[in-house]
Amino acid sequence: MWEKLRGHQRQVEMFRRAIQRERTAHAYLFVGPHGIGKKLFAKNMSQCLFCERFPDTDFEACGECSACKQMQAGTHPDFLMIGCPEGKRELPIDLLIGSRENRGRTGLCHELSLRPMSANRRIAVIDDAETMNEASANSLLKTLEEPPPGVILFLLSPETDQILPTIRSRCQIIRFSPLPESDIAELLLESGEVTSSEQARTISQFSEGNLNTARQLLDSGLLELKNTIEKCLRSTPINSLKSVAAIKAVFDNLGGDTAKERLNMRWANQFSIEELRRQLHESEDHNRMDQLAAMLERCFEAESHLKQTMPVALCLEAMFDDLARLSRTQIVV
Ligand SMILES: [Zn+2]
Repeated sequence: MWEKLRGHQRQVEMFRRAIQRERTAHAYLFVGPHGIGKKLFAKNMSQCLFCERFPDTDFEACGECSACKQMQAGTHPDFLMIGCPEGKRELPIDLLIGSRENRGRTGLCHELSLRPMSANRRIAVIDDAETMNEASANSLLKTLEEPPPGVILFLLSPETDQILPTIRSRCQIIRFSPLPESDIAELLLESGEVTSSEQARTISQFSEGNLNTARQLLDSGLLELKNTIEKCLRSTPINSLKSVAAIKAVFDNLGGDTAKERLNMRWANQFSIEELRRQLHESEDHNRMDQLAAMLERCFEAESHLKQTMPVALCLEAMFDDLARLSRTQIVV
């Protein structure tokens, strides 16, 4: 079951050893960027502990017993999961301790205090733990301080400093790293989200080790932007007017508000940097290499302009004017 999970073998081994030595904690804080498999890891681990065929110490799951089937279907009665609802900024305290009318009689903390239904323990995942406000965090303290027998809590968060120290200090912190590019590429191919390995490689390069980012790239048609940028930067000399028009057309297709356009411009800049780096790597002509280095410099400059809220259109035009000029220059050393 762990073979399908990418990039976190070190953590699997750590947990296996901890379980074999009966050294598991009651609460874990999984730290790492969104979209790298923290939640899947917590679910897999729960399935291993619930599986009726394998003992806990094997840290494996059969995938066929009723506990495994329930875990896979998301219906295991002893597995609880809450997170910040879509569109909300904070994890509602009701999810932890029940609504105002039912305080203490429903919610995750209450559920955890009950006897397990079918397994020998209850396990809970709090996704987006960084979105708990102080009251929510405090309401969780009692469960963390005096956990009911067998209970394991997984808190998931991108950073540790977004979690209140009182909570943090009661959890064992486990760090998860972004996935290697090759894993992202394979995952995209396996799921059928991309069909060519070329495309999988391209997207994984820009995914920052994050499957969610990779999916965003696929969804938003950013690949078209990337292709357009590459085409513009491969013509020598660069045609500034044509390039700007082509890129603006893609921006229009991508749509969205000013903030979205700014984000797309940052992608455009990223793609430009990547393409120029590639050309620099392949070039053997010294003058051309100097040109490319200067052009790269200019892209980094554009990046800082964008951060200083320069309007997108102005940033794009100025950048391509300069890139075009640099692509015609004979650089004298
Ligand atoms: Zn099983």
